[in-house]
Amino acid sequence: MKVRVRLAPSPTGTLHIGTARTALFNWLYAKKENGTFLLRIEDTDIERSKEHYKKNIYDGLQWLGINWDEPPTIQSERANQHKKVIKTLIEKGHAYRCYATENELDEMRENQKANGLAPKYDNRHRNLSSEQESEFIKAGREAVIRFKISDQKLISWNDLIRGKMTWSGKDLGGDMVIARRAPAKTIGDPLYNLVVVADDSAMKISHVIRGEDHLANTAKQILIYEALGLNIPVFAHTPLILNSEGKKLSKRDGVTSISEFKKMGYTSEALANYMTLLGWSVPEGTNERFKISEISKIFSFEKVNKASAKFDWDKLNWLNSQVINEMSAETLLANLDPMFRAHGWNFPSQDWGINLMRLIGPSMVLINDGVDQAKPFFEEPKLSEDGKKQLEVKEAAIILNFILEKLENIDAALFSKEEALDLITQATKNCDVKKGLVMKSLRAALFGTLNGPDLIQSWVLLSRISKDRGRISRFI
Ligand code: GLU
Repeated sequence: MKVRVRLAPSPTGTLHIGTARTALFNWLYAKKENGTFLLRIEDTDIERSKEHYKKNIYDGLQWLGINWDEPPTIQSERANQHKKVIKTLIEKGHAYRCYATENELDEMRENQKANGLAPKYDNRHRNLSSEQESEFIKAGREAVIRFKISDQKLISWNDLIRGKMTWSGKDLGGDMVIARRAPAKTIGDPLYNLVVVADDSAMKISHVIRGEDHLANTAKQILIYEALGLNIPVFAHTPLILNSEGKKLSKRDGVTSISEFKKMGYTSEALANYMTLLGWSVPEGTNERFKISEISKIFSFEKVNKASAKFDWDKLNWLNSQVINEMSAETLLANLDPMFRAHGWNFPSQDWGINLMRLIGPSMVLINDGVDQAKPFFEEPKLSEDGKKQLEVKEAAIILNFILEKLENIDAALFSKEEALDLITQATKNCDVKKGLVMKSLRAALFGTLNGPDLIQSWVLLSRISKDRGRISRFI
């Protein structure tokens, strides 16, 4: 069987991490099987579907490296085909018009509740006589279209992740609405389960891979496939993503959309790597740090867990720092350069920028950390508590004065590591203090704090942009 899979997002919000993970599993499977990965934009909810959300979804997928193989299918453009399918179902006796009003349905549900029953349509209009139907039409009632679901029916499928699944028709809420209310004899807007079957079939989808929140929909959709005599695709239901408290990951957990992760400074590579691990376990002996293009060769649904996946920020952060560490200084600089410019921070040469990246790159977790870590080079830092204390030590001013005097004879633009080291040694001897005291006093004067990357290299960079002397002179 030629593998054709699809992602079917609704453009009613930005690309959510759950949808992106579903996209990734579809894409990985398509790659593994030399199949085709397709995109279908489910934009039939005209009110809530927005062009900018569609763009956000396209951009997010492309950023993650998930490319689709054919032009996207736009669901709203297929409305006529959807209605044709509904007509066929009516003609074959699988669907009918239901004229029950909202009030009548509310009353029905209230009664069920009062009797301790779960709410369920009681199929009251399944077998209307033509006289009854004429009465309703005469009374000006509009109708939804319902698809018949037999209580006795058992629906089974072999889920690639969850194994054999069985649903009973009686648990599906009674005959299902497949088209919205519309004037008599017309067909209203087709609804999700019908439309998905019509589109998946038209797109020749072989495998439907989606979140486990669609399990009941799958049971309903299989009934529609059967009624239409269509090939039923293979199904795989991926586990949900939960937050650290074990609840479904939602807006309340802060970031959930791919564009937000990007904005925070996560790399597409780390995020795609992490999302693959959300539910999928690497085979023994395989490293958890990988590129999705490589892992597709060994991806399989056997290793996808049935249990929900907990979102683990520490692991994502670890992967992101790994990716940053593997980046060349040039690439890291290319990532940060626009952010530096946005702050109005200029540096004298590409070399200077590269050296800064080599200095701060190893301790970065997020790309944006580079901005915080570069800031003390470009902007005069505030004095922290520990920096202040250090500069109050009585020898500090003497040491700094000595260094500043020596710097007068050195060209700031050519200042080297060797010269920096030499100056520190000279100050240690001349001021008769420990080397540590010299280093700490210097760091406090230059960067306002006692923590930071390698002092010698930091000092050289600062000197090359003519900022060391001014900072030292503030404390003598
Ligand atoms: N538009 C549906 C969703 O975003 C698609 C589900 C499916 O894959 O069938 O949940």
